[in-house]
Amino acid sequence: MTTENLKIIKLEVKDVRFPTSLEAHGSDAMHIGPDYSCAYVILKTGKGTEGHGLTFACGRGTEIIVKAIQSLSHLVVGQVAVDIFKDFANFWRNLTSEPQMRWLGPEKGVIHLAASAIINALWDLWAKLLNKPLWRLLVDMDPEQLISTIDFRYITDIITKEEAIEILKNQQGKKEERITKLMAKGYPAYTTEVGWLGYSNETIVDLCQKYLDLGFTSFKVKVGQNIQNDINRLKIVRNTIGYDKQLMVDANQVWGVEEAIEWMKKLSDFKIYWIEEPTSPDDILGHATISKALKPLGIGVATGEVCCNRVMFKQFLQADAIQFCQIDAARLGGVNEILSVYLMAHKLGVKVCPHSGGVGLCEMVQHLQMWDYVSVSGTMKDRVIEYIDQQHEHFVNPLVVKNACYQAPTAAGYSTTFLSETIAKYEYPIGSEWELMFSQGLFPDPRKQK
Ligand SMILES: [Mg+2]
Repeated sequence: MTTENLKIIKLEVKDVRFPTSLEAHGSDAMHIGPDYSCAYVILKTGKGTEGHGLTFACGRGTEIIVKAIQSLSHLVVGQVAVDIFKDFANFWRNLTSEPQMRWLGPEKGVIHLAASAIINALWDLWAKLLNKPLWRLLVDMDPEQLISTIDFRYITDIITKEEAIEILKNQQGKKEERITKLMAKGYPAYTTEVGWLGYSNETIVDLCQKYLDLGFTSFKVKVGQNIQNDINRLKIVRNTIGYDKQLMVDANQVWGVEEAIEWMKKLSDFKIYWIEEPTSPDDILGHATISKALKPLGIGVATGEVCCNRVMFKQFLQADAIQFCQIDAARLGGVNEILSVYLMAHKLGVKVCPHSGGVGLCEMVQHLQMWDYVSVSGTMKDRVIEYIDQQHEHFVNPLVVKNACYQAPTAAGYSTTFLSETIAKYEYPIGSEWELMFSQGLFPDPRKQK
């Protein structure tokens, strides 16, 4: 393999959207009628191997992320992939600290989502070049090499490079045994499918039953629009699944701090394992207040799906503001930054239960959580990966959930390569399905709007 072959010769990016708003899939108290979408990056090498990576969005605005990716592409195109991997932390810092573009963030918002898609594509490329699933690439790296991918700027007050290496070294001896267990059983999943806000009572009962039959023991329901509706819906769910199953609720940021506490006190009879995103995702001390108030009720606080970077996660962890750390594979700046959050959470004894769903998020987080099990925390106890049964059919190597457990991926890469027909159908606005829906009047054609 010559170095020249591994030069990244092209970065393509596509706006891919699915019309999920038509069925209220994904509806919550804040995001009414999302069209699940992604900005999808394809990195082409001289050798022919491609890296495919994405970041998630809810429809309108995906075009802005696409533009940001195009504006960052000069930092990737022309680089030799193995040189990036040799000094990945430095590459990551250059990408996220581009001297002029960093003003748009830094390390947050559209510009960080764009960085995430590029970084995720690079990890997919790396894993494909080594013919390994991403989790295995991470697990097989020696501690020093893995830690060399992380930019420790801003987090050494909570974890140093040396401490991180030590954590990984301490787990080395148990790796093989854990890999065997993981390959045999998989990793426990929970379902959010039963309680989107737009669903009818009958649909909720049917879905609870469906997931019970599939072996699920952990369920999550959206709340936050109307207290009486929440009580009614939770009664329906508890009556169907019973009180021996795990039940979480998710408010998707709608409440103020006091409102969150009062609302959750009214729901506490339903034995709630965690309240997710009770308030503004940026309000670290507000989460700490909620967390303290709900502790006596046995309700934990979870957040992270829009927590934009490792610095905010560091503070959530330091402030004892969350009991469940919900990293998101496409919100943080890709794998490198996520690894640092896992290590900080481990050091401070907070469980990581990744956010998932959307487009490709389940496909990605399974790799990260499996790495955590084998190489960092060494346990699956009280940890679950969110599972939403949507958009998996569009991937070449979709996830496999069996007996309510994610099965360890075996195909090379980060599981984020779309089928070519998916792009042909759902690229926005030129895909064949979109053309059809415009002609049927289901959606306005953006090309005809001023
Ligand atoms: Mg959520």
